Amino acid sequence: MSIFTKILQREIPSEILFENDSVFAIKDIAPQAPIHLLIIPKKEIENLQSANDPKIFEEMLKAVQHLAKEFGIENGYRLVVNNGKGAGQTVDHLHFHLLGGKTLSHSFK
Ligand code: AMP
Repeated sequence: MSIFTKILQREIPSEILFENDSVFAIKDIAPQAPIHLLIIPKKEIENLQSANDPKIFEEMLKAVQHLAKEFGIENGYRLVVNNGKGAGQTVDHLHFHLLGGKTLSHSFK
């Protein structure tokens, strides 16, 4: 079971900011920006490469739009997916990083 599923099942404490039938969102424990949220499908999909249900992306992106508005960053945010170890993925449960709350540089390093 992934750490995110444990959070979803309330086995690990975290504030669940948003939840519907298919996705949920939490604050990242080690924020890289003033606002750093994680949008996560409830189903344990390993990563972007192994995802095969486009509906999940629709739900994840709708959650992004909703949360960006709620957190007042709809005019400037970045959405990141680290896919695989080579990109620094540390939790093998698909998630979007939603980053904002400051002026973000154009660098992707
Ligand atoms: P990634 O490295 O792209 O797989 O992202 C995993 C993210 O999960 C990292 O940014 C971590 O800081 C975050 N993370 C790990 N454990 C927790 C936790 N218990 N609550 C919230 N975020 C977490």
